Amino acid sequence: MWEEGAEVAATEDQGSARPTDAVVDVLIIGAGASGAAVAWSLADTRMKILCLEQGDWTKPTDFPTNGRDWEARRYGDFHISPNRRARDTDYPVNDASSSMKVANFNGVGGGTILYQAHFPRMHPSDFKVRTLDGVADDWPIDYWTLEPYFAENDRMMGVAGLAGDPAYPAHEPTLPQVPLGRTGTRYAQALNKLGWHWWPSDIAVATREQDGRAKCINLGQCTLGCAQGAKASVDITYWPHALRARVELRTRCRVREITTNAQGFASGVVYYDPNGVERFQPAEVVILAANGIGTPRLLLNSASSRFPNGLANTSGLVGKNLMLHPWPQVSGYVEEEMDGDRAPPTVLWSKQFYETDRSRGFVRGYTLQFIRGNGPAHEAITNLGTGRLPWGKDHHRVYRTQLYHRVMAVVCSEDLPEEHNRVTLDPVLKDSHGIPAPRIDYTIGENTRAMMEHGIARATEVLAAAGARNFSTSPSSPGHLLGTARMGTDPERSVVNEWGRCHDVKNLFIVDGSIWVTGGGVNPTSTILALALYIADSIKKRLATLFD
Ligand SMILES: Cc1cc2nc3c(=O)[nH]c(=O)nc-3n(C[C@H](O)[C@H](O)[C@H](O)COP(=O)(O)OP(=O)(O)OC[C@H]3O[C@@H](n4cnc5c(N)ncnc54)[C@H](O)[C@@H]3O)c2cc1C
Ligand code: SF4
Repeated sequence: MWEEGAEVAATEDQGSARPTDAVVDVLIIGAGASGAAVAWSLADTRMKILCLEQGDWTKPTDFPTNGRDWEARRYGDFHISPNRRARDTDYPVNDASSSMKVANFNGVGGGTILYQAHFPRMHPSDFKVRTLDGVADDWPIDYWTLEPYFAENDRMMGVAGLAGDPAYPAHEPTLPQVPLGRTGTRYAQALNKLGWHWWPSDIAVATREQDGRAKCINLGQCTLGCAQGAKASVDITYWPHALRARVELRTRCRVREITTNAQGFASGVVYYDPNGVERFQPAEVVILAANGIGTPRLLLNSASSRFPNGLANTSGLVGKNLMLHPWPQVSGYVEEEMDGDRAPPTVLWSKQFYETDRSRGFVRGYTLQFIRGNGPAHEAITNLGTGRLPWGKDHHRVYRTQLYHRVMAVVCSEDLPEEHNRVTLDPVLKDSHGIPAPRIDYTIGENTRAMMEHGIARATEVLAAAGARNFSTSPSSPGHLLGTARMGTDPERSVVNEWGRCHDVKNLFIVDGSIWVTGGGVNPTSTILALALYIADSIKKRLATLFD
């Protein structure tokens, strides 16, 4: 389709002359979770594959846990909000009209650099909520379509856990479980008292040496990055394998828009190279892996005369149905010292309230996730903020009853898709390259509110059964980014088909969290990665007929 080495790009939608790179077979936008998995899987085709990523690699020595100021950096260059972190590799997000804030990381590894590595899969029921509960839509695929890809992903990432959880179809975690420790044992005893389901969490942390990575030595809070290399972020799992298989990854390259040719195929992207020079990268196939906010932002910013409402947006659904997983948290304090920040934070889950029971006053459900605790500065700062830790003569006495005495449960609540929850282009705010920033409009729905209240009450019951007192509840913290370019078989009601191809643009694929039809009540990354592997396999199977 493109002549290699052509100097000037000339497509329907780019009028201006700009330097043009050699054509590639596959261009992936974003080197985060799904971008890494799709790059690795496609590498065995021997196609020329290039990934453009706006951020940098993070060296193990860069992680805050290497230094004494590790907790302070949580509020600076390792903040989970791109607006607070404000690195030149970040783009701003206008979330002023959203009841939940946005968390992400822009760099090789994407969100997995900062994630907790809690690694539940979606449940079989999550793929058919319309059939089971009469709400939202069924997915065009089911759990069993993804099952082999969940297993492949577990092997690539290394997942610690215990086989036999009755809440799931049988599956075999690849590594021994993370020990329950003092805190986990306390939660387990409390849940046993109540007679509620619990199971050690699946966690993508190496509990023994895994694929050249050292094992977890309980250094501290995994969310600030794991200098030990035990936490499975995709920069140290998928990417080294993909690079060895000759995938090219260019960092500090920010894509501005996807271009199309006269036939309506994607022809490549316009991007800014590390020197800020605007370039054109032609490609035979383009794959978007820029997450549930970055992907609709790019599609909307790729409007043209042929696609006036944004690329791949004939359905009008690009950016709509944003789901963020509301995430309230209940804390309390016990008399004995617990694990605090000394081990991977999430230790076990309860699926007691996961499946629909209409007598609760809502449909679908949530996971209760139990957390070990906080580090010293975080404990002090959060308690000063809520007034639970006084200044003055009682300061140290009270603090001693708090540090490492906190027990915590979060309610990972299913968030149903609603079109008014959406990503659009902000008319004013721009990133450092002048590209319009995304704006988020989001409110928590009634069903989810009822679910959250139920979850907060149940979480408090468990913590009370664990001997905790002095409860407090935090509102929903920043959530996951899902649903803004949904999958489906009907082009009027979805953006991509059942194997990730855009209905409107046949050589354009989406593999990140935006293609989710519903959100489930679990952290999403295990399922995002399995989906990316499934789409890569679907592409491979259809290579000969891809443009038909
Ligand atoms: C603090 C925190 C804790 C979390 N904890 C968990 C957890 O315990 N378990 C779990 O399952 N999930 C967790 N998550 C969520 C998890 O990180 C995401 O679900 C996952 O990373 C999403 O994968 P993705 O491929 O959709 O996008 P991402 O991983 O976000 O990757 C998108 C990539 O695209 C790049 N990009 C975007 N736009 C452009 C552009 N225009 N040009 C070039 N590059 C671009 C970005 O820089 C980024 O690297 C957590 C997230 C955070 C922030
Ligand atoms: S607890 Fe383990 S996985 Fe987490 S940061 Fe420390 S060594 Fe890494």
